[in-house]
Amino acid sequence: MGPYVRYQLVRKPVTPEVPIVSAAARTAAIQLIARKTPLVLDQAQRQPLPAMFGAQVFGVEQMRSRLPETAWRALVSCMEHATELDAGLADQVANAMKEWAVERGATHFTHWFQPMTGSTAEKHDSFCSLENGRLLMEFSGKQLIKGEPDASSFPSGGLRATFEARGYTAWDPTSPAFIRETPSGATLCVPTAFCSWTGEALDEKTPLLRSAEALSREAVRLLRILGDQKVQFVYPTLGCEQEYFLIDRDFWLLRPDLVATGRTLFGAKPPKGQELEDHYFGSIAPRVLAFMQECENELWRLGVPVKTRHNEVAPSQYELAPIFERSTIAVDHNMLCMEVLKQTAQKHGFHCLLHEKPFAGINGSGKHNNWSMATDTGENLLEPGRSPAQNMRFIVMLAAVMRAVDTHADLLRTTIAHAGNDHRLGANEAPPAIISIYLGEQLSEIVESLVLGTKAGDRKRESMRLGVSVLPSLPRDATDRNRTSPFAFTGNKFEFRAVGSSQATGKPNTVLNTIIAESLAFLSDAIDKQKGGKGLEAAVSEVVAEVFKKHQRILFNGNGYSAEWHAEAERRGLPNFRNAVDAIGNFGTSKAVALFERFGVLTAKETESRMNIMFEAYCKAIAIEGQSALSIARTMVLPAAQKSQGAVAQSVGAAKAVGIEVKAQERRLRDMSARIETLVLCIDDLQSAFDHAEGHGGSPGEHAKTYRDKVVPAVSRLREVVDALETMVADDLWPLPKYREMLFLQ
Ligand code: ADP
Ligand code: MG
Repeated sequence: MGPYVRYQLVRKPVTPEVPIVSAAARTAAIQLIARKTPLVLDQAQRQPLPAMFGAQVFGVEQMRSRLPETAWRALVSCMEHATELDAGLADQVANAMKEWAVERGATHFTHWFQPMTGSTAEKHDSFCSLENGRLLMEFSGKQLIKGEPDASSFPSGGLRATFEARGYTAWDPTSPAFIRETPSGATLCVPTAFCSWTGEALDEKTPLLRSAEALSREAVRLLRILGDQKVQFVYPTLGCEQEYFLIDRDFWLLRPDLVATGRTLFGAKPPKGQELEDHYFGSIAPRVLAFMQECENELWRLGVPVKTRHNEVAPSQYELAPIFERSTIAVDHNMLCMEVLKQTAQKHGFHCLLHEKPFAGINGSGKHNNWSMATDTGENLLEPGRSPAQNMRFIVMLAAVMRAVDTHADLLRTTIAHAGNDHRLGANEAPPAIISIYLGEQLSEIVESLVLGTKAGDRKRESMRLGVSVLPSLPRDATDRNRTSPFAFTGNKFEFRAVGSSQATGKPNTVLNTIIAESLAFLSDAIDKQKGGKGLEAAVSEVVAEVFKKHQRILFNGNGYSAEWHAEAERRGLPNFRNAVDAIGNFGTSKAVALFERFGVLTAKETESRMNIMFEAYCKAIAIEGQSALSIARTMVLPAAQKSQGAVAQSVGAAKAVGIEVKAQERRLRDMSARIETLVLCIDDLQSAFDHAEGHGGSPGEHAKTYRDKVVPAVSRLREVVDALETMVADDLWPLPKYREMLFLQ
């Protein structure tokens, strides 16, 4: 066996041999779960972390050792300057990559890309080629650099008609190729960008790369003005904390709503939820730990630097976080994380739920998007200064972030707008839909004092003079721990906390990079203009004070969940886009179009297409929920409820027949029958809401509004009665696994 056969499973996962849906299946699932044990590796098959890390990545070291010196240098230059590889060099790189991959058991390669579906896409080709009937393992430079998947079935938001469906994928050499392995084989994955034949970006990666370039350009320009001659480029950094739920796969199989929509459309509140707060950071159950360990092993092999794991607040909720990286790579790595979580879960007899709100009444899942900017000289631009010059630089960068987030709060809100996140944002657990910045008390005071200016005789304020003295050191712990803020400064980075757990992080980071680039450009222009007369230090102080003053309204350190904040935010004029449909339209404003065009991130057409796709995705998500709710209510809940009602009626009738008084039981029966009547009415009501939305024409935005206003409330009304029935219908007749089971039995 080759080196790529790493391990074998010690035990095959239990497969249920029960009918897929029936009340008996629920009990059978519980019995199966009771017999499950952790799926662990044999001692002999374990490997030390250093041996695993990056083992499946064709990274810089592998390229260097497998390419001739001249080719290696040429490739590095292409990567640094984002220029195209010439054909000869491409062939050399492709060949080296193929040899490396084949040694590791790869039989196929694929261009791996991120179409606007929120997930990744791949189409595999084998290395197999025939020459005079003889097998050759082929992978040419051309195949490495460019692919031509049929683009017609990917969302394009109107960018191209199906008759001109061709699109192409182009190698992104800044993100290393890697091998994805299954027990039966391996595939070389080449990260690529995906464009239409007319050059429009059909993916999330291309705009991200463009935005990172814009950010670098503008940051370097500003740093030069501040006197830095060394920095050549700046890159955004990103660390995504990923939250998820893990439930037993045997329960998942019995919940058509989870299978179709990723969330439970029905489910009565369990007797115990998260109120005991006993899950957060609790000891990790053995079966779950075994799953986490296998995920981590796999992610390390793929070069993803996963670092922390722990139990989250809700029962059966967990988190995994990597060490931050260059954001263009971290975005790819987060896609891999989600994929590995899902696949590994299945192997361990679990199902991993990445939805923002799989269960009503307990916390949902988010993805904290930790963002900063780093220089090629190894400095973090959001690290508060230790010297007067760093101090000034930090304050200028802070001003850029504040200005950007205030000016474009609407766009930032759009990047997290989708049906799933509507259940989270604004509920009492996730940051509100209102975008604000948390700086912590100390930093807020500094901002305040810079706005007010230094007053003679006031030592405390004197010490804040830019370019002269250092900032008071900010203890890391003092800057965080306001979990209610959507955008919090946490010592040396900002944490955009409103991103949804299931989301691809390309879009939020594209917008973050772009709005910051714009503010960096604004600051450069302003400081440059002022500098002539009064010198750098005074110019910076003046510009920064002006920016802080104008954008101070975006700062909020208090409780973001409170009603007072909603009123206060309104007074301050901060936008509050309460739901996805309200927010998505922000991509259609002339302000948005001009911003993305100016920085070469998206053309007007590309921006519009993204808005359309978000609207369409919303409609589809709600339509699937509507359909799914209807079918479960009609074919599972109603029959169970009627059966239960029949049994009660029979029992009451029998008692009465022999002259026993059963008034209280009759009341129960009447109550139950009334609920069942309501159930049927709610089903009809949802059906007509759904038909109305389906048949409703208009723009994608109008279509989405109909789904929001008609279908969403009808699903909620249906849920209410179904959940009430769950508490009345005989337990042995109820077909859907209950919250108390899914959340607590593993
Ligand atoms: P917490 O938010 O729980 O305090 P940490 O401070 O350890 O946790 O960081 C959370 C995430 O932020 C991690 O993924 C970490 O790598 C990332 N992070 C730390 N520094 C930076 C940075 N400069 N840029 C981007 N992400 C960062
Ligand atoms: Mg965090």
